[in-house]
Amino acid sequence: MADLLLGRPVADAIKEDLARRVAVLAEKGITPRLAVIRLGEDPGDMAYERSILRNCEKLGCAAQSIALPRDIGQEALIAKIEEVNADPSIHGCLLLRPLPQHMDSAKVCDALAPEKDLDGMGCRALGALFAGRKDAFAPCTAQACLEMLKFYGIDPAGKRAAVVGRSLVIGRPAGQLLLQADATVTLCHSRTPDLPAVCREADILIVAVGRAGMIDREHTRPGQVILDVGVNSVDGKLCGDVRTEEAAGIAAAVSPVPGGVGAVTPSVLMAHLVEAAERAI
Ligand code: NAP
Repeated sequence: MADLLLGRPVADAIKEDLARRVAVLAEKGITPRLAVIRLGEDPGDMAYERSILRNCEKLGCAAQSIALPRDIGQEALIAKIEEVNADPSIHGCLLLRPLPQHMDSAKVCDALAPEKDLDGMGCRALGALFAGRKDAFAPCTAQACLEMLKFYGIDPAGKRAAVVGRSLVIGRPAGQLLLQADATVTLCHSRTPDLPAVCREADILIVAVGRAGMIDREHTRPGQVILDVGVNSVDGKLCGDVRTEEAAGIAAAVSPVPGGVGAVTPSVLMAHLVEAAERAI
């Protein structure tokens, strides 16, 4: 039976390291400060925002919510983002997505200063990532995948990795981070022929599609490490893209949903905030 790669111990280890670094910053009179920009009052967004604010508080960081009406104009939102960019007391910013239909989401995200773009949303942060520079932040969930591998002692160097999904939020940045860690990476998508065969080739398989249970025994082989990033709701129950029990009967290790990669993402956001504050000194 495969090892279950739980996210909680990874998150705890990250938070332990951050507590030490926040204390060092406090000695210098610096409190990392996060701004969360939220449009409208979607209950999911509000719950997510509350949990982020709680995480900040627990860690000794400051956080503020910037709540704006959902029908705000694009230029007014960009003006608000520019205010955040110019405010030296704010070290990092998270813009809750998806943005409303009337906005050009890419243009709005691009307005965020890369040094404050904690979830790597804008093209300047993504450009820095793809150029292999360390002065911007990767999207948190993509980074969380690499944190999982690091914590569990799985070195991507020299391994074959396949990432299923090529979004700019997860698939492509996860592939880039694996490449930087010296894996040989194949990015798969909806037009990839014979996906099971490509997946079986991989030593490390990261799945970020959003289709419940699409990865099964056919995609799996002994010795493989599988990270399931998908979050789906089936009959009111959360599940991932991987049929965990099937995969666990064959692979060496698999992350569950819930309780896997998703449990690490909020700690990565905190890590990016603390790093932004450290860099701002
Ligand atoms: P997305 O933008 O919809 O991208 C999905 C990707 O999957 C696309 O690249 C698509 O290919 C590919 N795909 C769709 N059907 C496929 C198929 N049959 N075979 C192979 N590839 C296929 O989704 P996303 O934003 O990347 O999110 C992916 C999943 O991660 C979702 O379940 C989301 O809820 C979850 N998520 C988790 C976290 C976390 O913290 N755990 C955070 C964010 C998102 P094409 O490009 O060809 O269309």
